[in-house]
Amino acid sequence: MNDNTTIPTTMRALRLTTPGKFEIQDVKISHPGEGEVLCKIRAVAICGSDPEIIRGDLAGTWPPVYPFTPGHEWSGEIVEIGPGVHGFEVGDRVAGEAHKGCGYCINCLQGRYTLCLNYGNNEAGHRHYGFTSPGAYAQYNVYSIKSIKKLDDKVSFREGALVDTGGVTLHGMEIAGITPGGTVAVIGPGPIGMIAMQYAKALGAARVIMIGRGARLQAAKKFGADILINFENEDPVTAVMEATEQFGVNEVIECSGAAGTLNQSVRMVAKGGSVILMGVPSDKVIEPLPFKHIVHNEIAIFGSRANPNVSWKIIECIASKKVNVKDLITHTFPLEEFEKALDVFVNRKEGVIKVVIEPNGPEKE
Ligand SMILES: [Zn+2]
Ligand SMILES: [Zn+2]
Repeated sequence: MNDNTTIPTTMRALRLTTPGKFEIQDVKISHPGEGEVLCKIRAVAICGSDPEIIRGDLAGTWPPVYPFTPGHEWSGEIVEIGPGVHGFEVGDRVAGEAHKGCGYCINCLQGRYTLCLNYGNNEAGHRHYGFTSPGAYAQYNVYSIKSIKKLDDKVSFREGALVDTGGVTLHGMEIAGITPGGTVAVIGPGPIGMIAMQYAKALGAARVIMIGRGARLQAAKKFGADILINFENEDPVTAVMEATEQFGVNEVIECSGAAGTLNQSVRMVAKGGSVILMGVPSDKVIEPLPFKHIVHNEIAIFGSRANPNVSWKIIECIASKKVNVKDLITHTFPLEEFEKALDVFVNRKEGVIKVVIEPNGPEKE
């Protein structure tokens, strides 16, 4: 049974009112339906996709309607249980996933629920929290139990907010595989790239080359990069080939989504190697590719979407210190200071890597 007495009727939430405009408003708290729980949001990380949604670049799709509350990289605790929920209790600490598939299309049945064929169809049971369904920049939000995983006691709420980012990374690497003893190139020293590098090592890569620029490239050293390549100073393909005695790298993990990097990736990967695409480019990025080179060298190119079936692995890796996400969190802000937080994140101020919002006050360390 639920102790509803401690749950207020309204909460503070970030509301996108029209494309490009937002306010922190008082909003009515929803209650869980069948198979759902109400969570008190403790930490929610700003994702690279959030500024796009906030600007309204994708209005009509993300979000489908206004007003809307975005936010999808979150952790918190369960405060109310809906009917038909088993295995979760009030007080459980959990981390969220953005995607909840319909559960019955052929992709969902194969566990590929981020490719649900009923994407965006709420009536079919699909949810994409923070994109097509209400998200986590709020004090409370309702989630399906399919989209939450219990947090290990050793994982803080702040770290829990990075389970999503970590999962995006691991999913792509699981699709393609990492060669034990091999060399991996990571393009883009943002949060995903920094975690990708650590995972590549955890999965057996002997060396990791990070390609980027500025303070973030320098920060990659702290997270285990063996070789840094600044693309402003040298051609990354030439530099990678030199660093690998013209062999190329076993895997390239593209985390930037920047124009030109897919072309670079297929030219710096070894014969028979794999290119894993995790960075999300804009629709305008159309890459010219060396078609014959790809065919004759059997280069595999993998797209990778979000983080299906990997959250528990990320939680275990954070708990056992295989992956350091804590030091990626450079800034924390209360929800009321969202505008400032967004400015720091978008404009890459103060050496920012990951910004975490705490809608219910700061976590005690
Ligand atoms: Zn995200
Ligand atoms: Zn489905």
